[in-house]
Amino acid sequence: MIKRIFLFLGAAILLLVAILLINTFRKKPWPVYSSQALPPLPDSAVLHLSQAVQIPTISFTDSTAVDTISFRAFNSFIERAYPFITEHLSKTFIREFSIVMEWKGQNASLAPFILMSHYDVVPVEESALDKWTVSPFSGKITDSCIWGRGTTDDKFGVISILEGVEAMLRKGFSPQRTIYLCFGHDEEISGRGASAIVEYLKQKNVHPEMVLDEGGQLSESRIKDVKRPIAVIGVAEKGYVSFELSVEKEGGHSSMPAKETAIDILNKALYHLREKVPPSKMTPELQEFVERIGTASDNFINRVAASNLWLFKPIAKSKLAAEPEGDAMMHTTIVPTIIESGIKDNVIPTNAHAIVNSRIMPGETAATVEEFIRNAIKDERVKIKQVGNYNSDPSPVTSLQSSAFRRVESALYKNVPKVIPVPYLGIGATDSRHYRAISDGVVNFFPMTDARGYHGINERISLLDLQRGVAFIMTIIEESGTEFK
Ligand SMILES: [Zn+2]
Repeated sequence: MIKRIFLFLGAAILLLVAILLINTFRKKPWPVYSSQALPPLPDSAVLHLSQAVQIPTISFTDSTAVDTISFRAFNSFIERAYPFITEHLSKTFIREFSIVMEWKGQNASLAPFILMSHYDVVPVEESALDKWTVSPFSGKITDSCIWGRGTTDDKFGVISILEGVEAMLRKGFSPQRTIYLCFGHDEEISGRGASAIVEYLKQKNVHPEMVLDEGGQLSESRIKDVKRPIAVIGVAEKGYVSFELSVEKEGGHSSMPAKETAIDILNKALYHLREKVPPSKMTPELQEFVERIGTASDNFINRVAASNLWLFKPIAKSKLAAEPEGDAMMHTTIVPTIIESGIKDNVIPTNAHAIVNSRIMPGETAATVEEFIRNAIKDERVKIKQVGNYNSDPSPVTSLQSSAFRRVESALYKNVPKVIPVPYLGIGATDSRHYRAISDGVVNFFPMTDARGYHGINERISLLDLQRGVAFIMTIIEESGTEFK
């Protein structure tokens, strides 16, 4: 009997190993397509990005602090630097400084494209100034990089688009479908410019086949054991919501504290909230992400796991969860960001407040997050209220079969040798979220490599990235007449 059981177990294990191996060898690594030599990068493009950085188009939360002269200067700079665009594209200003340019296509029956980015930048922290190698608005050019605030976020996008369009116009190219260039002026604070642009386009009955914006990038070194560049393409964005948790309880003198104060109750609530994590899930896009990357790994075990996710999904999930970014791709996050209470060291306060910020997974809503918080805290003395002006539901997901996604893939194959394009769930919020109201082809990607100094110190972009950015846009435009159905 025992022998039989062993025989059966042995046979089962052999069968399992056989299935795992067959799946592994069947699932080939992502194919390598033929690429082109990048067109040379004109000196003028380098100079233009440097000049664009030198114009401090800073977004401040207090909108009265905004230096409108810089925003005007930026627009005159575009007119001067891009004479073909100025001559051939019509231009409309929205909310004073956001820009829509229209490049009319020959075939009005084809749905248009939108190439977008934003030209406002975040401020530079006074206290961090001495940590910068160069002055943040110098636009300094070195052998390999252009330096300064806004190089990666997102004047690189603006200049790549303008250079690409200008180069195509210079060649005498005329697109089949209409191409809009949309540049927001306040992405870093509210994106009101972008939402007004979308209203304007709605009125014009524009329903773009593709909206290409920042948000995804190239990674060459971040994934161990994979020696191919990985293009992380945003296909959806998480939602955003903040809640205020507040407790009111009689205070008093700190020499005679009650067993529990408002601060204690809030403290426990936050502790319980952080102890509980919303359930994790591997969306179909995340599964595709893991499979495309895993099957290209040099590590055989990783290849076996990625080819057999039906069995190894829990292991893949725990590997992803090891990094905050991977973890955030699998579930709704909820974290306290502000705590306020108390006015004096010997007074027990009557009120204690906290703000918790949540980034919501597709498929969930602000209401389900509120329910989760209520259940985690389980204390009716803690009042929970939605607050904030930027709350948004998670976006719909752009299909990997859509023309938009496949256009980006195609332009990548041409310009980035051996690239593996993978879908990705955006965990920040970009201007493009507004455009989902008029298009189901929103994709977030620009070919910059492992962005450096974004919102931080020594922000810079390599000349190779700029060269690739311009080439990428030119390919997207060249292929604009091609159908990807
Ligand atoms: Zn940005």
